[in-house]
Amino acid sequence: MLQVGIFGASGRMGSLLIQEVSKDENLQLSSVYARDNIQELYAQNLPVAKTIKDFLDSCACIIDFSSKEGSLELMQTAKNHHIYKPMVIGTTGFSQEEFDMLQALSTHCPILYASNMSMGVAILAKISAIVAQTLKDSDIEIVEYHHRHKKDAPSGTALTLAQACAEARGLDLQKVRVSGRDGIIGARSKDEIGVMSIRGGDVVGKHNVGFYLDGEYLELTHNATSRLTFVKGAICALKWLAAKPNGIYTIQDSLGLNA
Ligand code: NAD
Repeated sequence: MLQVGIFGASGRMGSLLIQEVSKDENLQLSSVYARDNIQELYAQNLPVAKTIKDFLDSCACIIDFSSKEGSLELMQTAKNHHIYKPMVIGTTGFSQEEFDMLQALSTHCPILYASNMSMGVAILAKISAIVAQTLKDSDIEIVEYHHRHKKDAPSGTALTLAQACAEARGLDLQKVRVSGRDGIIGARSKDEIGVMSIRGGDVVGKHNVGFYLDGEYLELTHNATSRLTFVKGAICALKWLAAKPNGIYTIQDSLGLNA
């Protein structure tokens, strides 16, 4: 039995993870940690850790869906106390420097980071790269839709999809990304990649990658209809990661899409 710790346990994702890990006969929920609504976790008789160090000590591997600040605290505590466990990280919103910290930690333990744990999005990223390269004159515009509570924009997934397209064209995404247009902005430049965000209602997550040409356009759309898809993806990824050597991995690695 793999002893799993869930970080961010009282959130939308954390609550579903608790349900699914508890149902899995190969996994045992050995510690949970959260910043908010802790009383609800105690009320369910869950193994609530009082400190992040206790949380790390009480599990063999970790799934983290919390907040940028929470993930960074988790990583810093692991580093300070030299407690290194395989980690699946689904939290989004990291800056490049913060992502570098995650990368540095992965020299001590295997880490799988995915801004989207669904199989469909992993395949969408792969296909988008092929289309970006093949339809090389197309204008690439990505639109993402999420529920009104989402804190970061554009979504980590939209940035991952944009990165896949930019890499396929040999472009630096930092230089070509446009995430808002207003006023007399002039004509669209050839290389720019638009990444736009819509927020509203209870939309779990929709991503549309469009390739616009003269006379035709191709749009590839992924719709997440339930958060369970991310939860199941994260659990599958954890089982795959648990025995891997130290290093940083992607969801594509766990699905064999990089082979
Ligand atoms: P949420 O706000 O519902 O829950 C956040 C959880 O993290 C809560 O339990 C909260 O107490 C805890 N938390 C927040 N800050 C903390 C801190 N500093 N220390 C400890 N715990 C802290 O959020 P959510 O909708 O469950 O999403 C969580 C994260 O996962 C977000 O970054 C979201 O974008 C991301 N997400 C990723 C995927 C994916 O497939 N990778 C899918 C959905 C959501």
